[in-house]
Amino acid sequence: MLHAIENAVIGAGVIGLAVARALALDGREVVVLEAAEAIGTGVSSRNSEVIHAGIYFAPDCLKTRLCVAGRTMLYGYCAEHGVAHRRCGKLIVANGSEETGRLRDLFRRGAENGVDDLEWLDGAAARRLEPALQASAAILSPSSGVIDSHAFMLALRGDAEAGGAAVALLSPVTGGSVEDGGIVLDVGGAEPTRLGCARVFNCAGLGAQRIAHNLAGLGRETIPRRYMAKGTYFTLRGKSPFQRLIYPMPLAGGLGVHLTVDLAGRTRFGPDVEWVEDEEYSVDPDRAKVCYDAVRSYWPELADDALQPDYAGIRPKVQAPGEATADFVIQGPEDHGVKGLVNLYGIESPGLTAALAIAGRMVELVK
Ligand SMILES: Cc1cc2nc3c(=O)[nH]c(=O)nc-3n(C[C@H](O)[C@H](O)[C@H](O)COP(=O)(O)OP(=O)(O)OC[C@H]3O[C@@H](n4cnc5c(N)ncnc54)[C@H](O)[C@@H]3O)c2cc1C
Repeated sequence: MLHAIENAVIGAGVIGLAVARALALDGREVVVLEAAEAIGTGVSSRNSEVIHAGIYFAPDCLKTRLCVAGRTMLYGYCAEHGVAHRRCGKLIVANGSEETGRLRDLFRRGAENGVDDLEWLDGAAARRLEPALQASAAILSPSSGVIDSHAFMLALRGDAEAGGAAVALLSPVTGGSVEDGGIVLDVGGAEPTRLGCARVFNCAGLGAQRIAHNLAGLGRETIPRRYMAKGTYFTLRGKSPFQRLIYPMPLAGGLGVHLTVDLAGRTRFGPDVEWVEDEEYSVDPDRAKVCYDAVRSYWPELADDALQPDYAGIRPKVQAPGEATADFVIQGPEDHGVKGLVNLYGIESPGLTAALAIAGRMVELVK
C-alpha cells in the first residue's frame, strides 16, 4: 500500500534530527526513517564531540560558513535546552619553524573566516596556560568547546516530536523512484511499506550514496563517490594535566591526533587517519604507536602504557586519499533536477557543530 507524507528525512543522526526539528518547527509533517534500532548510532556517536570555531577551511566554503553559523546556534541551543557542554577553549600547537609558519597561515585563515577571538601565543605564553605543553607557538581559540552529542540528539528528537514529527526506527530505506507527483520510497523492516513523499532529505551519513544509487530517476552522474577514513581513539589512564583541548597541526584527511577532555572528565586522544574499504569499527591496539608518537610531539611526558584502546569512527569522505579536502556536498533540486529532493554527502567534521545551520539551509533549499 502507498502511504503519502509531506516530508521524509532519511537517517536519525545529528543531521537528520536537526532537519526534522527545523521542518516540524516550521509546521510541516515529518517522518524520520532510521535503519537502526536507536537514534544516533552512526557517525554522530563516534566523533570527538568538539564544538569547532571554524578556523580550518577556506572562508567561502560550506564547511566554514555552516560551522561558524552553526557554532553560535549550537551554544544558544545548549543554553536554552540544558544540553551539557563546556566552552573550555582550545590550543592549536606548532613545534618547529615549518609548523609555526603554517600556524601563522591558520591564524590568518581564522580571522578571514570571522573567528574574531583568536589569540596568537608564543611558546612561553602557551606554557603559562598549559604548563605541560611543548610548543614553539600556539593559537588560543576561546570559543571552541565540547558537547554531549547524545544529549544534543535527544533534545533535537524531543523538539521534533513535540512539533509533531514521527521517528520510525528499524525502517531502512531500500530503494525508491522519482515519480510525477513526488518521490516514492521503499521502506523495509518488519512491515515493509512504500511512502509517497513530497520532499525527501537524504541524511544517511555513510549510507547516503547507496540510497541515491537506489533511487530510480536520479542522475547517477550527480552522486559523488564515497570514500571512508577511519579514526581510532585511545583514552588516557588517569588524569591529564590539560584544561583545554589541545590540537596539533592538521594533517591530510583529519585535524590531527588531538586531546579532548570530555564532560565526564575522561581524556581522549585521536582520531588518526586510516583509509578503509569496509564499514567496521574494531579498534586495533597496535595503532597506539601512531597515537603515542603524535601526542608526544606536544606532550612529551606522556607515559608508556598510558593509552587504552577506546572506539573508532569513520569519516564519510567525497575525496580519495591524497586529494585536496573536499567541501560538504549539499545537493538540492537545482543541482540534480529532482523536485523535492535534498542529498547530503561527505558530512564529516565539522558536521556536529554545523548541524543546526545545515538543517536551516536544507529547509531553505526546498522552499
Ligand atoms: C572520527 C570523527 C570525528 C569527528 N569529530 C567531530 C567534532 O569533534 N566536531 C564536529 O563538529 N564534527 C565531528 N565529526 C563530524 C560529525 O560527527 C558528523 O558530521 C555528523 O555526526 C554526521 O551526522 P549524520 O547525521 O550525517 O550521520 P550519521 O550520524 O551517521 O547518521 C546517519 C544515519 O542514517 C542511517 N541510515 C543509513 N542508511 C540508511 C538507510 N538506508 N535507511 C535509513 N537509515 C539509514 C544510519 O543508521 C545513521 O543513523 C567527526 C566525525 C568523525 C568520523
